[in-house]
Amino acid sequence: MPTSAELHERRVAAVPRGVSQATAIYAQRAKNAEIWSEDGKRYIDFGAGIAVVNTGHQHPRIVAAVEQQMKLFSHVCFQVTPYESYVRLAERLNAIAPVAAPAKTMLLSTGAEAVENAVKVARAYTGRPGIISFSGGFHGRTHMGMALTGKVVPYKKGFGPFPADIYNVAFPNTYHGVSGEQSLAAINALFKYSADPSSIAAIIIEPVQGEGGFYIAPFDFLRALRELCDEHGILLIADEIQTGFARTGKMFALEHVGIKADVVTMAKGLAGGFPLSAITGRADVMDAASPGGLGGTYAGNPVACAAAHAVLDAIDEEGLCERANAIGRITLDRCNQIKDRSNLNCVGDVRGLGAMCAIELVKDTASAEPAPQLTQTLMKVANENWLILLSCGTYGNVIRFLVPLTASDAIVREGMDIFETSLAEAVTRAA
Ligand code: PMP
Repeated sequence: MPTSAELHERRVAAVPRGVSQATAIYAQRAKNAEIWSEDGKRYIDFGAGIAVVNTGHQHPRIVAAVEQQMKLFSHVCFQVTPYESYVRLAERLNAIAPVAAPAKTMLLSTGAEAVENAVKVARAYTGRPGIISFSGGFHGRTHMGMALTGKVVPYKKGFGPFPADIYNVAFPNTYHGVSGEQSLAAINALFKYSADPSSIAAIIIEPVQGEGGFYIAPFDFLRALRELCDEHGILLIADEIQTGFARTGKMFALEHVGIKADVVTMAKGLAGGFPLSAITGRADVMDAASPGGLGGTYAGNPVACAAAHAVLDAIDEEGLCERANAIGRITLDRCNQIKDRSNLNCVGDVRGLGAMCAIELVKDTASAEPAPQLTQTLMKVANENWLILLSCGTYGNVIRFLVPLTASDAIVREGMDIFETSLAEAVTRAA
């Protein structure tokens, strides 16, 4: 059996460095919130494959649905010989997505592809070119995804030129001194100085920024954004790729806010680990593209559709929105206790919505200067202590907790114990 160290050496030789990796742990098998490595070690997984396995690894319901579909067919292409499971999934997403009825849905494979297609339908519907996105936002690694993404290193540097008519404004990040009012003022200033609102097709926003650092957009700001869009005939695209499917304690984060988007992008948690994404939007917007303008060979793969149906059933029948809230409470309570441990003096902020929780690490609480080095050390120490953690944030100083929503309280507590011990150890090492 090769060790993780041996596999890592082979990886470095065979795979480009641009494909980064958060750990040097090579997965051999996984179950619910645990992963066993090639060298036989057991880890608690607080990353969920980057917010994908909200339903846990190898959920029995998903495994059964996938096995059953595999026996029937694994690919025929929906644009050639369609299948009922795609249509039924569209119907289910139309019924639950935070979009004004009547809605329509198309399926794709990746999050970036969902974003690309949201922009396509928005431009086709409005006949306008412009798209506004936010600083710190992340929308994928395709050219449009990169253009919309509000972080240069590592996502954009060296990869331009990007598509034109993309405008980036400050995200309302209250911890870092940007209020909702300031963010709205930035959009209005953009309308004055750079682009007339009549040239803007859509504003795209993550209700809670994912890669950007788990910053929660103030709900009043999102409501004001909805009004601003209505005033100018601009479409609102909610990127719920990371926030969707029970992660925030509701099926979609916009449900906390009480507004509807014109188009919602979804991926990650949708199919419990199978590559499937979707955009659900107002039927008139979704129908703006002409036949043949949308689609893809693998888009809406039938095995992934089978998994997605099982995911939706599991979220509903196992009460995973409620579980997200319970897991979030355990995580945030513990993070707040750690924040209050005066000897650590490195926790700048603790925040979360449902089980989308984060702790922001700083050099000291007085200066609130970001501590990316400490964050890196903490991730390494956590791995040594058998816990998988993910970081995020513009400054790389945020630990995000993405616990599978099927995890037991006992596993969450065990993971948080390891987290606390590891943080104390990382602080000592960094000193
Ligand atoms: N949008 C958001 C909000 C995301 O979090 C991500 C992935 N981290 C994407 C888009 C891109 O998804 P994918 O990696 O599947 O292309």
